[in-house]
Amino acid sequence: MELTEEIKITKIQKSHREEISNQTPGFGNVIADHMFRSLFKHQHWNHQEILPFSNLSLSPATLALHYGQSIFEGMKAFRLEDGRIQIFRLEKHHERINKSLYRMCMPEIPFSLFANALSSLVSLDKAWIPPAPGALYLRPFVFASEEKFGVKVAEEYCFIIFSGPVDAYYPKPIKVKVEREFIRAARGGTGYAKCSGNYGGAFLPTHLARQQGFDQILWTDARENEYIEESGTMNAFFVLDGKIVTPPLSDTILDGVTRDCLITLARELQLPVVERPVGVTELLEAFRDKRISEAFGAGTAAVIAPIASVYIDGNDYFLPTYSEKSIMFRLKNKLDAIRYGKENDFMNWNYIL
Ligand SMILES: *Cc1c(COP(=O)(O)O)cnc(C)c1O
Repeated sequence: MELTEEIKITKIQKSHREEISNQTPGFGNVIADHMFRSLFKHQHWNHQEILPFSNLSLSPATLALHYGQSIFEGMKAFRLEDGRIQIFRLEKHHERINKSLYRMCMPEIPFSLFANALSSLVSLDKAWIPPAPGALYLRPFVFASEEKFGVKVAEEYCFIIFSGPVDAYYPKPIKVKVEREFIRAARGGTGYAKCSGNYGGAFLPTHLARQQGFDQILWTDARENEYIEESGTMNAFFVLDGKIVTPPLSDTILDGVTRDCLITLARELQLPVVERPVGVTELLEAFRDKRISEAFGAGTAAVIAPIASVYIDGNDYFLPTYSEKSIMFRLKNKLDAIRYGKENDFMNWNYIL
């Protein structure tokens, strides 16, 4: 049995929730009162603490800033219809944070630490959880905090969780560009880890695509630039010949929790769903023969992002307009019904506090 250390709690003197209550949070603009912090030193996670959200004081020689040992998670807490609170798919996010940590040669986090930290923080800041259709976004992250400038695996790490309320995201269909020059991830690399460097490396290609008038990139595989991988911070889905199709997981694709939920819900709704490679050539033919009816991204932040057009080698190809009957919205509505406690949580996804 793991010994779970007590979390030392220092409450904020006065919540700043009232001050910002007339502001719309959008996504990523508002941060709740408290944060959790634990330090890894001498082979253990120590000093578990919840304190008012505040700046860190770091040495310029902090290893993470130089050599990139830094990983994160993105998850959400919801207020159920009956007033209870749940953290969505806590176990799956815990598995994933440990996969990212392992790949970056960083110390894993025991389940009890992860679950206690999140439960305590969310309970303390529960007034910040907006009612449906909003949620409290949770950002756990770990970075190498050791002070040293030699290239080495750090021996000290900092694990922090903070949170912030987010609005429902009413997605306007996005224009995406199939990227065949830059790549996001290669076989054997870190593509499946939620490590900071993956995002830094994606910014320039995304910025260039934005300058060309696109909202997001659809990445292709590093070897042939032929197979669709994912889009921004979302996994990619298509409806081809009436079937839901998504690329299979590999070490170049992030194992999205939303992706996993949508696949499970599609099966539950008896909609055909397959995980298989999707080629750019196949997409071109499907557009030509009008066999593609939907394309969308899936991730925690937006849940789903409908795709309006796909740019491939010089041409934009347009998807039909979407309606509430579209498969993507049926899946999203089902997911929301479970998360807000309106429908039976048949997979035990809600980690109730
Ligand atoms: C986080 C992320 C996703 C989506 O994962 P969710 O668990 O659904 O939020 C997809 N792709 C990348 C690259 C990501 O970072």
